[in-house]
Amino acid sequence: MGLKSDWTKTGFATRAIHGGQEPDPSTGAIMTPIFQTSTFVQESPGVFKGYEYSRTSNPTRVALEGNLASIEGAKYARAFASGSAATAAILGCLDPGDHVLCGDDVYGGSFRLMDKVYRRFGLEFSYVDQTDLAAVKAAIRPNTKLCWIETPTNPTLKVADIEEICSLCNAAGVASVVDNTFATPFLQLPLSLGATMVAHSTTKYLGGHSDVVGGAVITNDEEWMERVQFILNCMGGNPGPQDCFLTMRGIKTLHVRMDRHCDNAEKCAAFLESHPGVSKVIYPGLASHPQHDIAAKQMKRFGGMISFHVVGGLEAARRFLESVQVFSLAESLGGVESLIEHPAIMTHASVPAEAREALGIHDDFIRLSVGIEEASDLIEDLEQALAKAKG
Ligand SMILES: *Cc1c(COP(=O)(O)O)cnc(C)c1O
Repeated sequence: MGLKSDWTKTGFATRAIHGGQEPDPSTGAIMTPIFQTSTFVQESPGVFKGYEYSRTSNPTRVALEGNLASIEGAKYARAFASGSAATAAILGCLDPGDHVLCGDDVYGGSFRLMDKVYRRFGLEFSYVDQTDLAAVKAAIRPNTKLCWIETPTNPTLKVADIEEICSLCNAAGVASVVDNTFATPFLQLPLSLGATMVAHSTTKYLGGHSDVVGGAVITNDEEWMERVQFILNCMGGNPGPQDCFLTMRGIKTLHVRMDRHCDNAEKCAAFLESHPGVSKVIYPGLASHPQHDIAAKQMKRFGGMISFHVVGGLEAARRFLESVQVFSLAESLGGVESLIEHPAIMTHASVPAEAREALGIHDDFIRLSVGIEEASDLIEDLEQALAKAKG
């Protein structure tokens, strides 16, 4: 048996390709089939081969879940129809009166879900700067049940110290979740740093090709996994088998893509930092990043996301965004193609204006998802668009 009997003993790249997957026993197909079925025939009432109904579970989904658990170094994973469905399921495990301590710069949709939906059901939320450990500690209340951590954050790329925050949470009996969408398990393993759960939008780097929407919850905690599975089955946030297949296919190249995303982002960040048309660059890999040391401690490399402020305010930003040719002006991130966007107008419009200002999401603020095209083409594109931004 050796390596094959226990993929946990293999390296990341091997697990990304093989974790959770076996050749199909009935045909030998090396790729997990897309089990496009809603139900499963039973031999006798209650006697079945492990699957009853595809909302509860489906073999293509189970292969993806095994793969996700494998790459995060975990025992359990559950796949969802979107990252938002995964977030909703975790929050759905809480009771009215429970308090959630959340970062002050999380994905706009996560904030909206907390503030506009779950607050109506009696959950309490507070939003703190998680780069400030004293503030995190002070915000833990007797009824705090969950700490929601996102790092690096979106879009200001603040880096929270996962190990320190989780140790505060663990001491206080508070479960912690790290939204690991930006870093991916190739760069950062929150469970090994003390987190209770990892959440993902697999729509981004894990899927990696901008062709599928999905999400996941991953943990070693059996009790939390049972709660999440219960909510998944009750609320029906399950992904379809075709989407599970596409996500699994994406993950097989995660390690190769992430290394190139990091290479290209490092080059673009260095270029932008040296350009007079750019007033400030935010990239965790730059020595100028305020939490560069924490990023270096907990991340293998620094990811493919860069934010920056362009000289000349909204008008310059608009000219810049209209002038790019290789970068595409679009929401989302993490695909092979480079994307660019304006958070204040596009992805973070649902964040109240004062909160946006406080975070530095001004009108001159631009976010890049650096893809895996030729780095020299990306830099040439940024250069020509910056020349047009100057007006
Ligand atoms: C996109 C995203 C989400 C939400 O995921 P969907 O798949 O779009 O529902 C959550 N967290 C982060 C960090 C994201 O980038």
